[in-house]
Amino acid sequence: MHVHSTNIYKTALEPTQRVDLAIIGGGCAGLSLARELADRQTTRSIIILEPRTHYQDDRSWCFWSTPEHALSRLVSHRWTTWHFGLQGQAIETKSSSLHPYQYIRSSDFYLDCWKKINQCPSIASRLGTTVINLIKQEDGWNIETTQGSFFAKQVIDTRPPSSTHFEQSALYQCFLGAEIQLGHGINTEHFTLELMTDMRLLDGEFCFTYLLPLGQDRLLIELTLFASRPYPAEALREAFDQLLAERGLTDSQSLRIEYGNLPMGLPIHRSDPPRAGLGGGALRPSSGYGFMRIQRWAEQCAEHYCKQGTVVPQTLSKFWLQKMDQLFLSVIQSQPSLAPTLFNKLLGKTQTERFIRFMNDRASLIDYLHIVMCLPKKPFIQALLSNLFQRK
Ligand SMILES: Cc1cc2nc3c(=O)[nH]c(=O)nc-3n(C[C@H](O)[C@H](O)[C@H](O)COP(=O)(O)OP(=O)(O)OC[C@H]3O[C@@H](n4cnc5c(N)ncnc54)[C@H](O)[C@@H]3O)c2cc1C
Repeated sequence: MHVHSTNIYKTALEPTQRVDLAIIGGGCAGLSLARELADRQTTRSIIILEPRTHYQDDRSWCFWSTPEHALSRLVSHRWTTWHFGLQGQAIETKSSSLHPYQYIRSSDFYLDCWKKINQCPSIASRLGTTVINLIKQEDGWNIETTQGSFFAKQVIDTRPPSSTHFEQSALYQCFLGAEIQLGHGINTEHFTLELMTDMRLLDGEFCFTYLLPLGQDRLLIELTLFASRPYPAEALREAFDQLLAERGLTDSQSLRIEYGNLPMGLPIHRSDPPRAGLGGGALRPSSGYGFMRIQRWAEQCAEHYCKQGTVVPQTLSKFWLQKMDQLFLSVIQSQPSLAPTLFNKLLGKTQTERFIRFMNDRASLIDYLHIVMCLPKKPFIQALLSNLFQRK
């Protein structure tokens, strides 16, 4: 399914071979930055280089935020209540009307970005173009692509991490899911938002169900693992089919598949040209959420570029938050059997707005200390000691 029937990507300005800024990759991060630059009516010449020739509704983004925010026009679903629980135990509930959980469909996001970008005559794009090599010059970058070479004074690289970089991740969020059209006789009243239910171990890895009711007759359901290695989709298929059977969804129609292996805890080194998006460390190591971090970076980067003429790399968490996340990840990595209890306690025992600040990268040191107090201490002390000894 194509997202757009019209040629939405055709920009007013035909791309030239020499530009002020090249945005490598027209995915979430690349388009977010271009949209922010278009909003600021930049007059600098910019090109987006992207291998896709068309966009599909290939993912959806969820996050917690206030009901009104810069992208609220794109939010198609909001939930003020969510559920979680360990396998075989009672499901618990949490609510927030201040910060509902929100859903943006990628097709709506891509279309919105391209509409804005196309209103800005100085931003051009080359789809069907894969960047092969970047060569530093005295005054910029020579960019070799499958469609010839470009020269850009500045480059921001939003390509996914290389395979060697990806392999260095501490953990992977592996998921297989589907957006489903419900069969006759079932509607979404039978379902509620399940953030992390059926938390358990599968294949020795932490596993849970993620379910979003979407309107009257649709839902998104995913089997998710926080695993020590990436999983091919086929390896998750049997457990996913079993999940569908348990929920009485076997006969429902699958409209699209959501599958991915997201690196949680990718080591990030500052690079030249600067990186953003997943390869720049946009994913929050302890949760795998990244959409809002990308949006915040895009805003800052566009502001900086318009004022100073230079781009900035993906914004990361504060130093101590990175360290706490690393600690959290090493506990899950070394003792996956503890993960269901840890996440259940994190969701259940932490005061809701504090939990949301934690998920949104906005936790204060006090929030973090409160969170740690809710969790079993021994595994954290063990992980801390083991990290200290490894460093020596
Ligand atoms: C299915 C799925 C669901 C997700 N759901 C959520 C969610 O609910 N909430 C959340 O916070 N995060 C979520 N994420 C994580 C994260 O927000 C997304 O992965 C997001 O798309 C990352 O943005 P990005 O720009 O780094 O990568 P992408 O959006 O993948 O963009 C990278 C771009 O680089 C292009 N590219 C690749 N190679 C080259 C090359 N050689 N030259 C030029 N361009 C190239 C690609 O074609 C692509 O367009 C999800 C991820 C996936 C995969």
